[in-house]
Amino acid sequence: MENLEAKRLSIVAIGAHPDPFDMPYQAGGTLAKYARRGHDVVMVSAAREEEWVEEVAAIAKRLGTGHRFLDFEEGAIFDDASHTHRIMNMLRELRPDLVITHQPDDYHPDHRGLSRAVLAACLLSRVAEFKTDHPPHMIGNLFYSETTSALNSRPTIYVDVAETYEQKMEALRLHGGLSERQPDVSHLESIEHLVEREDATMRMRGFQVERDYCEAFVPAVNYRVTWAHDLLPLATLPPLED
Ligand SMILES: [Zn+2]
Repeated sequence: MENLEAKRLSIVAIGAHPDPFDMPYQAGGTLAKYARRGHDVVMVSAAREEEWVEEVAAIAKRLGTGHRFLDFEEGAIFDDASHTHRIMNMLRELRPDLVITHQPDDYHPDHRGLSRAVLAACLLSRVAEFKTDHPPHMIGNLFYSETTSALNSRPTIYVDVAETYEQKMEALRLHGGLSERQPDVSHLESIEHLVEREDATMRMRGFQVERDYCEAFVPAVNYRVTWAHDLLPLATLPPLED
């Protein structure tokens, strides 16, 4: 069996939108941590909007990841054969060990549609009968990221992101162009508010597991049907303080 602990991993995080480029908000601290440890990380924005291309590139660079677009249409991302096929083609090209996307019950219809299409693409990627530009690839790990403001989210996996907290905050503030382009934007719609909201979410998830800042995830159990532990997974405990 492949030892993933010792491998340089390929990680693909697929968000629906470039504005504000969903994955940096929902999983940016974790992705930056993987990048710091020398793994290959690609953040994907399913929808492409020209006005965001430069900021998306700057944010990805700040987090230490690559980025790309799938050229889907905002407001029309569905769990159908066409979208699934295009996601599957990209996954077969990038050959990830780990895929992250939105939760299937997130608030935005594009997030929901994308989540289900990614699940289907991960399942079908290994099936040789489905022909794409690249050969089949088996994906062993699919995780759903935090929902916006943690609404309707019941995560079971917490990642300590204190190490990359500042890096993530700096990256998110690179979205400042939104406020500049829309000078009448209210505080609740401003980038600063989005950053405050993300800060509160990371602190709240941190409080739940006695850390300063965490990002939270849900394993896609409906996907991991062939995935079994040798025995129950045990937590690694910190040493007792004197
Ligand atoms: Zn979005």
